[in-house]
Amino acid sequence: MEDIKLHDKTFEVYIPETEIAEIVQHLAKQINIASISRPLFIAVLNGSFLFAADVMRKITIPNSEISFIKLASYQGTKSTGSVNELIGLSQDLENRNIIILEDIIDTGNTLEKIIELFQNKKIASFKTATLLYKPKAYKKDIPIDFIGKSIPNDFVVGYGLDYDEIGRNLPHIYKLKN
Ligand code: 5GP
Ligand code: MG
Repeated sequence: MEDIKLHDKTFEVYIPETEIAEIVQHLAKQINIASISRPLFIAVLNGSFLFAADVMRKITIPNSEISFIKLASYQGTKSTGSVNELIGLSQDLENRNIIILEDIIDTGNTLEKIIELFQNKKIASFKTATLLYKPKAYKKDIPIDFIGKSIPNDFVVGYGLDYDEIGRNLPHIYKLKN
């Protein structure tokens, strides 16, 4: 598979779409067997839009719901450290079993901010599912319940993930070529 160019940088295929499908299937299976009743999945936009769409089609838990929040933490290829809530949630979260759907967890700053948003909401339980996880970059103690694939500290794009807003439509996941 060919390298691609986005803005000023070249990327090579890292996780082909066939492997992404297997990772998503496996992750959904883990969630399905965790016996979480009437879960409210909350996908973190924009990055998780394809992952959320694909994983939800594999969820077999009765009365599953999905909603979306939007946050921002990246400018270019480096995390800015601060995270701002852009679009909040409208539904009542009281007594709900929440499962966060993230595209990628890097430092954990975003996850920490999301958890803050759920404090004082009287939720029943909180779990996190992420397609990709960078264990070497992770700085928090918050447990991550469902992990698709752990990856090194490479910058990746495609399948929802962007480089300055482009590349989200790519079916494969690419990494920055050195
Ligand atoms: P964290 O707050 O954990 O440092 O970063 C989480 C967010 O940063 C992710 O939701 C994602 O939007 C962005 N991010 C982290 N690593 C990468 C990466 O390798 N590629 C892209 N495109 N975004 C990333
Ligand atoms: Mg994101």
